[in-house]
Amino acid sequence: MSSIPERVTPQQALVPGKDVGRGNPSTYVFVLDRHGHPCMPCHPARARQLLRRHRARVHRLVPFVIRLVDRQATATQPMGLGIDPGSTATGLALYRAESTSIGAIRHVLFGLELHHRSRLIHKRMGQRAAYRRRRRSANLRYRAPRFDNRTRKPGWLAPSLFSRVQHVETWVRRFLHWTPVVSVDLELVCFDLQQMENPEISGIEYQQGTLVGTELREYLLEKWGRACAYCEATGVPLNLDHVVPRSRGGSDRIANLTLACVPCNQAKGSQAIEAFLAQDPQRLARIRAQLRTPLRDAAAVNSMRWAVKGRLEALGLPVACWSGGRTKWNRHRLAVAKSHVTDAAVCGELAGIQGWTAAPLVVTATGRGTHQRTRSDAFGLPRLHLPRTTSAHGFATGDLVVAVVPLGLTTAGRHTGRVAVRTRGSFRVGTTDGINWKHCRRLQRADGYSYSHEGTPLLPALNDRASAA
Ligand SMILES: [Zn+2]
Repeated sequence: MSSIPERVTPQQALVPGKDVGRGNPSTYVFVLDRHGHPCMPCHPARARQLLRRHRARVHRLVPFVIRLVDRQATATQPMGLGIDPGSTATGLALYRAESTSIGAIRHVLFGLELHHRSRLIHKRMGQRAAYRRRRRSANLRYRAPRFDNRTRKPGWLAPSLFSRVQHVETWVRRFLHWTPVVSVDLELVCFDLQQMENPEISGIEYQQGTLVGTELREYLLEKWGRACAYCEATGVPLNLDHVVPRSRGGSDRIANLTLACVPCNQAKGSQAIEAFLAQDPQRLARIRAQLRTPLRDAAAVNSMRWAVKGRLEALGLPVACWSGGRTKWNRHRLAVAKSHVTDAAVCGELAGIQGWTAAPLVVTATGRGTHQRTRSDAFGLPRLHLPRTTSAHGFATGDLVVAVVPLGLTTAGRHTGRVAVRTRGSFRVGTTDGINWKHCRRLQRADGYSYSHEGTPLLPALNDRASAA
């Protein structure tokens, strides 16, 4: 890769492996063979050794990828990729699956927390529409309205949602270049109706096993908007509430279940709902109506996830789809803390999870700059004209650079991070402003993402949990 400088020492290069120590294994390092084909990822210590002996070269800094100079890829073990697509962040976990007598054990080798920029895109689209709308009222020649002259292809997604799909696809493609990934586990829906055997119609008792219970709970959370049906409290523990109490012959059918916060659940006790809500007939009517309404298409909420599935299948990967209920069930069963990456790691069928203490790589989608060449003030009037070119002195905003500023200057010291460039040559590196371009050296070209290792650290105590079952 052209953006990698020649003079990178192993110590400098292995920023990701810096925190390696006993009990705190860092994220693994991706390895390519001499032809650029993926090999199994290796431990940072092994990567350092290879670099020191000149048997490997640095291929990319973040995430760290090395390329062997003397070897071809031999047999690799199959690796899997778990994905938990979310609205603000998506978790991705690379693991090696090992089949044992108790089932598949996953050895997690790399975790990535991908933060999307949907909100920003939404805001920018709104801004753009506002600027364009001005032309309808400004004193200009007549322009016919053209808000409705566009067609939308089937499967169209709003730009803010579509960006998420593309971010996920980008990273899966990258992983395919760096690792021998053969399968993908994707969290597709909140709950699995098949697992629950269509509760609205069949009325089967829900105590068929813990997984069914979890799916049912997720289903109810979705149906009742994750709030108490009686006081609309959110963010509190919610109990399953039998509308007709069991003591009065109420069934366990889903049409008799709602969610209630603990105080409401206790206050209601064994009263009939008519007695409990005697003061609030409107709420009573609303709850009764909602009880009968089945949640027809849970997948409608998950349009982005279905689009992700389509994109991954187009890459030729076998994609196994699982429900969020199952992920939650696995997480509780294996006593794993909740994070985007752990959700991705425990998505699907597994008996245990191992080697999971490293902080994930946090990747934030930043975009590749803007086409807009005029900045406006608060009133929408032009304030500043940007140059046509987006690079200055060979650097572009978003590049990962290291700046070594000599003593005697106010910014003296070593700074590493994303650079923001100015034509006059005074750059901002990381959070330090006013660094002359001459002190900067590029480590990696801007690729639309920013990187940090300050992800949610996972407790060492949560490591190496295998299922007791
Ligand atoms: Zn309540």
